[in-house]
Amino acid sequence: MTCLAREEAFGDSVETKTPQAAHGNPSFGQDDRYSRQVLFHGIGLEGQRKLAAARVAIVGCGATGSALAGLLARAGVGTLRIIDRDYVEPSNLQRQSLFDEADALESLPKAVAAARKINALNSGIQVDAKVEDLIPANIEGALEGCDLILDGTDNFETRYLINDFAVEHSLPWIYSAAVGSYAVTLNVLPGQTACLACIFPDSPQGIVETCETSGILNSAVNLVASISATETLKYIVAGASAARLRRTLLSFDVWTNEHAEISTAEPRPGCRACERRDFIHLAGVGRPHITLCGRNSVQIHERQRPIDFAAMDRRLRPHGLVRHNDFVLKFWHEPYEMTLFPDGRAIIKGTTDTAVARSLYAKYVGS
Ligand SMILES: [Zn+2]
Repeated sequence: MTCLAREEAFGDSVETKTPQAAHGNPSFGQDDRYSRQVLFHGIGLEGQRKLAAARVAIVGCGATGSALAGLLARAGVGTLRIIDRDYVEPSNLQRQSLFDEADALESLPKAVAAARKINALNSGIQVDAKVEDLIPANIEGALEGCDLILDGTDNFETRYLINDFAVEHSLPWIYSAAVGSYAVTLNVLPGQTACLACIFPDSPQGIVETCETSGILNSAVNLVASISATETLKYIVAGASAARLRRTLLSFDVWTNEHAEISTAEPRPGCRACERRDFIHLAGVGRPHITLCGRNSVQIHERQRPIDFAAMDRRLRPHGLVRHNDFVLKFWHEPYEMTLFPDGRAIIKGTTDTAVARSLYAKYVGS
C-alpha cells in the first residue's frame, strides 16, 4: 500500500482542489462547459448561476452517493460536501461509479477518493470530503451551511437522523434508496410535504433486504440517482415552491417494470417530527456505540481517540500483517480484519458478534 501525500488534518474537512486547475488554463473552455445545460429551458443562464452558488451535502458515498455526486458535479453545483464513513473495496466497483481499482487497492476512504475523482472531472467546483460516520454528535457541524441534503446512505438509522435534522432546521432533503432491482425516492420539503417519519413512523422491522443479502443492479442505482439529482436541480433553480418538484413517494422496479406513486403532498397529522417536533434521533436516544455494519462486520464508534498510525503500526506488527496510509490503517489478525480511522473509529470484518469486536478493539487499540 502506498503512503499517500497528506492533504490535511484527518477527520476535518479535506478541501480538495487540483493544483493544475483546468479553469486556470486559457485553452480550456469553461464558458462552454455548461452550454448544453444552459440551453435547456428549465435551467438557463440564471439557473446555472444558482447551481454555481448552491451547497449540497451528500451523506453516504456508495453507489447512490457516487452517482449523485458525479451528476451534480458535472452539472456545476458549486459546492459538494461528501460525508462517508467507509473505504473503497473491490466489491464496490460494480456500481460505485466514482471509484477505480487503484482506490480499492489503497483502501482509500470513499469521501477522499470521490473528491479526487470529482476534482479531475470538474476543477471549477469545490468538494469538501468528510471521512466520518454521521451521528447526532457531529451532524450540526457536518451539515452546517448546506442548502439541501441528499441521501446516499444504506440504513434507516442515518436517514431518520437526517430527517430529524432537516425538519428541525427546515432544510429540504431527498430520500433515495435502491436494493436488488428496486428504487425508491421521496422529496422532503419541511413545512410543505410529508417527511420520512410521516410515511414510515418506525424503521422497518424483521428481515430488511440489503445489497448484501439481495444484491443490487447498478441500473436501479442510476435510476434513483438520476431522479433525485434532477429534483435537486429543480429545487436549486426554482426553490421549494417549484411546481414541478415531485410530491410523491416514487418507486420503480427496473426488472419487473412495476412502479407506484403515493402522494406525500401533506404532512401526516400527529407526525412525531413534523407536528410534535420530537426529534428523538437527534437526541441519539439509545444509540449504540457499536453496530453491525454490512455483511459480517461490526463498526466501533469510538471518538476523541486520535490514533498515531506510525506508532500503532509498530505496536500491531508482532500480532499480524499491518498496512497504513494517511487515511486508514489495516490490521489482519486471522480470521479478522480491522480497519482503523484516525479518529479511533474501527470497522472489524470477520464477525457479527459485537462482543468479539469490542474485545479485539480493547486488546489491540485500547479499551
Ligand atoms: Zn413528518
